[in-house]
Amino acid sequence: MKVTIDGHTIEVEPGTTILEAARKIGGDIVPPAMCYHSKLENTGGNCRVCLVKVSQGSEKDPRPIPKLAPSCKTQVMDGMVVENITNPQVLEARKSVVELLLINHPLDCPICDQAGECELQNLSFKHGVVDTFFKDDKRVFEPEDIGDKIHLHMNRCILCYRCVRVAEQLTPNRVHGVIHRGNDSKISNYIKNAIDNEMSGNMIDVCPVGALTDKTFRFKSRIWFLKPMDAHRDCDKCCGKATIWLFGEEIYRVTARKTKYGELEEFICNTCRYDKKNVSNWTITGPRAYEKWSVINQNSYLNGPLKKVVINADKRLL
Ligand code: SF4
Repeated sequence: MKVTIDGHTIEVEPGTTILEAARKIGGDIVPPAMCYHSKLENTGGNCRVCLVKVSQGSEKDPRPIPKLAPSCKTQVMDGMVVENITNPQVLEARKSVVELLLINHPLDCPICDQAGECELQNLSFKHGVVDTFFKDDKRVFEPEDIGDKIHLHMNRCILCYRCVRVAEQLTPNRVHGVIHRGNDSKISNYIKNAIDNEMSGNMIDVCPVGALTDKTFRFKSRIWFLKPMDAHRDCDKCCGKATIWLFGEEIYRVTARKTKYGELEEFICNTCRYDKKNVSNWTITGPRAYEKWSVINQNSYLNGPLKKVVINADKRLL
């Protein structure tokens, strides 16, 4: 079936969502997504940043969908016409959603381990508003210990449910989830069980903000000071394909590889993530490439040797 998004027409299989169709086209017209994750089932529909305008429902029934629709949950119909970045109402709504997400999210990026790879940071940069109408205090939660590997900073959580889906779908005996409702909703392990399942570290990687971070990497370095390299090893528990983050010859952390949409290519086990921090454990295949605008590319070593810089100025000024 045919769908047109911001003037680009593409043919897709029945059952494809608007977001998936947009990703097939690629470029700026792809709606952002904080809660949807293509490798996990039943994700999406929580954060609302991917809202789009369906200006024509289908060829047969050209009536528009009256309200903005979540593109990650809305399946395309034959002849559907969708507006994303071409519709000012969508861009205004996206700004409002970002403002809503930031109502309770602390602006502690300078000390947050997720800084530089935070999807909310990127989203705010692109769609954020400078000011806010919200004058009340932000929500603050008591610190909660969820185990020796993952640090939970609940104040930063945007309740996207991605970590809950990882726990449901990758680990037996899920011991954490979202408890309470409304303003009191929070991620918790409730009965004080430590999250220690072999695949649990993937929760850190799927978390779009700094609410779940790696305790073994906490405050060790800013990610833009590290060199991310693609590496693999023979592992009997997972695919063994990871990104290792080097500082000199030392591995500071190991993560799963992410796509340009911030989703994991494949999940990795805790053995690869926490116990294989020696370069000799890995076969390194080359530097991991990031989008040009990413702060991770600061000190980029992808472009070969540095060129000589010639500064034409009076020597007395140098
Ligand atoms: Fe989402 Fe992270 Fe909160 Fe889990 S802890 S719900 S992954 S923001």
